[in-house]
Amino acid sequence: MPYSPEEKKICQALSKVAFIVVILLVFSLIWMYFAHLYWIVFEEVTRTGIFWTSIGLIIAFGVLFDLIKSSLTSPGFSTDLEIPVDKHEICEICKYYKPPRSHHCSLCEKCILEMDHHCPWINNCVGYYNRKYFYRFILWVIAGSAFLAIITAPSIFIIAFNPLEFEKQYSENTKKIIMFVFSLGFAVTLVVGLLLGFQAYLIVTQQSTVEYYKKRTINPGYCRRLVSRIAVMLSKKEEKNRI
Ligand SMILES: [Zn+2]
Ligand SMILES: [Zn+2]
Repeated sequence: MPYSPEEKKICQALSKVAFIVVILLVFSLIWMYFAHLYWIVFEEVTRTGIFWTSIGLIIAFGVLFDLIKSSLTSPGFSTDLEIPVDKHEICEICKYYKPPRSHHCSLCEKCILEMDHHCPWINNCVGYYNRKYFYRFILWVIAGSAFLAIITAPSIFIIAFNPLEFEKQYSENTKKIIMFVFSLGFAVTLVVGLLLGFQAYLIVTQQSTVEYYKKRTINPGYCRRLVSRIAVMLSKKEEKNRI
């Protein structure tokens, strides 16, 4: 079912916000690393410190590069194809030729070749032409979040079992940053790791996320209903303002 104009506006706005949040988060984490984490983990400039910092920077560059690449690369629109004479399956929504295994995206308002899903974090659909960048982006994100969780784990151990020793050396602010970075790194590794496992299953079974859900006739429901409710609430607010 296509989105209503209000739902579409909300989803498109959320998609843009999510994309900006990821970029800001990566830069904030780089700043936190150099301002706090490095000095707690390595204490001074050492060869080991430089080595692990270089690894961290390569991962951060990989995250940003593949985020932007998967966002800016067209997933493959049916409108970019020449319509074959012998095939006339037409999309009921965009009224354009619908190639096999393509799916109409209500946010991009076009049919996408081998559409996987519309990803708010990259503010784009994941389809035939940009999925390799998306998979790489997922791998970089897991590497980056695991890196952050591992380098902050020893400090978390001290905070948990010997808090007085930590407080003697570092400020309350540093403690909060360490706890935030560790929690974020741990949670993202877990969640995106599960997503990677699911994507690996889809690759092995040669299907997209859309096809997987279609087969099971699972209602994508919850997020959709949430967006619907927000759209209704916003339109009521507009009506109130008019009165
Ligand atoms: Zn379509
Ligand atoms: Zn889309």
